Amino acid sequence: MTEKYRAYTLRNFREMPQAQYLSDEQIFDIEVVGQVFPFKTNNYVVDNLIEWDNIPHDPMFVLTFPQKGMLKKSHYDEMAGVIRAGSDPSVIIETADRIRWQLNPHPAGQIEHNIPEYCGEKLEGMQHKYQETVLFFPNRGQTCHAFCTFCFRWPQFVGIEELKFAMKEVEPLIGYIREHQEVTDLLYTGGDPMVMRTKNIEEYIRPVLDADIHHLKSIRIGTKALSYWPDRFVNDFDSDDLLFLFRDIVRSGRHLSIMAHFNHPNELITPEVREAIKRIKGTGAEIRTQTPLLRHINDDPRDLAEMWREQVALGCVPYYLFVVRDTGAQHYFGVPLVRAWEIYRDAYKNVSGLARTVRGPSMSAGPGKVQVLGVEEIYGSKVMVLDMLQGRDPNWVKRPFFAKYDEDAMWLEELKPAFGAEKFFFEEEFFSVR
Ligand SMILES: *Cc1c(COP(=O)(O)O)cnc(C)c1O
Ligand code: SF4
Repeated sequence: MTEKYRAYTLRNFREMPQAQYLSDEQIFDIEVVGQVFPFKTNNYVVDNLIEWDNIPHDPMFVLTFPQKGMLKKSHYDEMAGVIRAGSDPSVIIETADRIRWQLNPHPAGQIEHNIPEYCGEKLEGMQHKYQETVLFFPNRGQTCHAFCTFCFRWPQFVGIEELKFAMKEVEPLIGYIREHQEVTDLLYTGGDPMVMRTKNIEEYIRPVLDADIHHLKSIRIGTKALSYWPDRFVNDFDSDDLLFLFRDIVRSGRHLSIMAHFNHPNELITPEVREAIKRIKGTGAEIRTQTPLLRHINDDPRDLAEMWREQVALGCVPYYLFVVRDTGAQHYFGVPLVRAWEIYRDAYKNVSGLARTVRGPSMSAGPGKVQVLGVEEIYGSKVMVLDMLQGRDPNWVKRPFFAKYDEDAMWLEELKPAFGAEKFFFEEEFFSVR
C-alpha cells in the first residue's frame, strides 16, 4: 500500500466512501458522542480493518467510531438535545466540557505523584513510577494515527487536560537516567511516538545512545502504529531511516522492544501489518503486545486466544492483558475483575506455553500493577487472590493478598480486604508516600 494517510474526524467522516453503510441514526450517534470523546480514524483503518457489512458490531468499528453506549443515557440525551436544537458551537462545547468533567478525567491522581526531578526542576515530560523504568513523553508524539474509543488518555486528546506529559528536550532525560543507576529501561510513549517523522524521533533517541549510559539496557517504544498505520514501517518516505534507527539501537548493545498495542485478531491479518512486523523483526528488535480487555471488542476468550496465537506465529511476544481504567466510558468497555479473570483463564488455557507469556488481568492502579490471580474459597470465605506485577515499592511485588469476593467490582478502589483485615498490606505506606 502506498496510499497517503488521510484522517477522518467529526468534520469529514461523512465524506468517506464507507459512510453509505451508516444509517442517519448512526451518523447522529457518532456526532453526539464524538463531541465528548476524541474521534479520529484514517483511510487504512476504514479501508482495511473494518468489515462494513458487519457493523455496528464489527470490533474494529467499535474500537474507532464513537458508540452511543459510551455516554450514559442522561449525558447522551443532554448532548443530543443541544445538537437537535441547532445550538451555537459554544453551547455544544460547554455541554461537552460539563459532561467530560463528570467522567473522572483524572483517575487516581497518578500524574502528579510520579514526576521526577532533576537539578531542582520537575521533569514534566517524564514519569518514574517503578524503580527500573522511566517513561518519556516526547512533545511531538502526543497524538495517534487514529484514536481508540476506550482510550484512558482521552482527556488529553480533547484538550481538557493540559499536556504536562510532554518534553521538548532530551538533555534532562539523559541527566536523570545517568544519575539513577537503578534505571535499566527507558520507555518512549505518548500518544504514539511513531506519529513523529523519523528525524524527530532520532532527536529523542540518538543522543541517548551517544550518552553511552551503561546501566541503560533496554529501550521500549509504545505504539499502535502497527495496527493503525503499518506503512509507518514500510512505505512512508522515512520508513527506512526509522528501521536504520532501530538497528542502531540494537547495535548499541541494548534490547529494543516495540510495545505494540493490538486489541483484536482482525488487526493482524492484513499484508501491510505482516510486512511491517517482518521488517521490524529484521532489525533485531522484539515486538511485545498488550491490550485491555474490552467489552464489545475482545471479551470473547476465543478472540483473545486467536490473537495471542497469531502474534506468536508472527514472532511477537504477548505481554500484558489490562483491565479498563476507571475513567471515561469504563461503564461501556469495562469488564468486572472476576469476569476478566475467567475470560483470561479461558483464553490462556487454550494457547501453548509460547503464548502464556501474557500476564493479567492487570489494573494499572495507584500502588502498582495489580493482577487478579483468581477466585478461591478458603475455609468458607470466598475471596479474590491478587498480587502486584509492579509496585511503587518493589517490596510489594509478587506478594499475594486477598480481597472479599465481589462479582461487580471493576477497579481496586472498589475492593475490600478479606478475612476482617482493615487495609491491604500496602495501603499505609502508599498513602504516606503519596
Ligand atoms: C507497566 C509500566 C512500566 C513497565 O513495567 P514492566 O513490568 O517493566 O513492563 C513502567 N512504568 C509504568 C508507569 C507502567 O505502568
Ligand atoms: S493508540 Fe493508544 S494513546 Fe492513542 S488513542 Fe489508542 S489507546 Fe489511546
